[in-house]
Amino acid sequence: MDVLFIEDDTIETMKLQRTVSKLQLKHNIIEAKNGEQALDILKSSSKLPDIILLDLNMPRMSGIEFLEIIKADPKYKYLPTIILTTSENRADLLECYRIGVAGYVIKPLKYEDYETKLKTVFEYWQTNELVKA
Ligand SMILES: [Mg+2]
Repeated sequence: MDVLFIEDDTIETMKLQRTVSKLQLKHNIIEAKNGEQALDILKSSSKLPDIILLDLNMPRMSGIEFLEIIKADPKYKYLPTIILTTSENRADLLECYRIGVAGYVIKPLKYEDYETKLKTVFEYWQTNELVKA
């Protein structure tokens, strides 16, 4: 799958890359540091990603702002977007589901737990029929 991974924290990005390579997953991870950069990537690439993994707390454009923009755009609104966050804030969770997310995953602190959880996320989405652009 082509996975657009939107995350401002370099450590988190390394953690995801490490998980993908350790599990020998063949996914193509496209990195964006915030919502603004992610929008630029979406607009400039000829092919849309299969899924989006989205952090919430980011500078310049937060995950929720990014989500509102893509869900209001007929070109991007069907892209399955999964929140990947440390925020256990119920208001955030409700707001994300209201706007339209395909999932809301809380990042475990322990690396082993993170790996297990991400493995499940990737396997689940690989099982799905995805909208090919
Ligand atoms: Mg962040």
